[in-house]
Amino acid sequence: MKKSKNIALVAHDNRKKDLVEWVEFNYKTLLGHQIICTGTTGKLIHDTLLRMLEEKEKLEKEIILLKSGPLGGDQQLGAMIAEGKIDLLIFFWDPMQPQPHDVDVKALLRITVVCNIPTACNRSTADFMISSHLLREIYEPKLTDYSVYINRNL
Ligand code: PGA
Repeated sequence: MKKSKNIALVAHDNRKKDLVEWVEFNYKTLLGHQIICTGTTGKLIHDTLLRMLEEKEKLEKEIILLKSGPLGGDQQLGAMIAEGKIDLLIFFWDPMQPQPHDVDVKALLRITVVCNIPTACNRSTADFMISSHLLREIYEPKLTDYSVYINRNL
């Protein structure tokens, strides 16, 4: 991982307010990184960042907007993680309401474990992640060795 990270931000509808508040608090740090979002979350985060900058400046790095989560955005994000294009995931998923795309959510959270991606599903974890000195440093995650699985004889 380079010093500037690719940070994915996603929130289910009931958690979007939480994520917006978290972004308001942390926008200065976040602006130094590339942000990737599912569609609806991304529009909110874009507006939030512009508001925090008081619309005086444009965003230096435009947010990468994927499709809305239930329309394939979570799967796009999972594919980016599998391809090594995401360094951190902040995903405020809703523990109180079933989602139409539950299977996509499960797949996304699974691939973060497969690929050893730091993942925050609540604000406290996100706070610890964003205040980590590793966010500002080059970091080489220790990857799980899947060679036995890859080279298995069938
Ligand atoms: P949204 O998707 O940002 O388009 O609302 C979030 C999700 O449900 O994964």
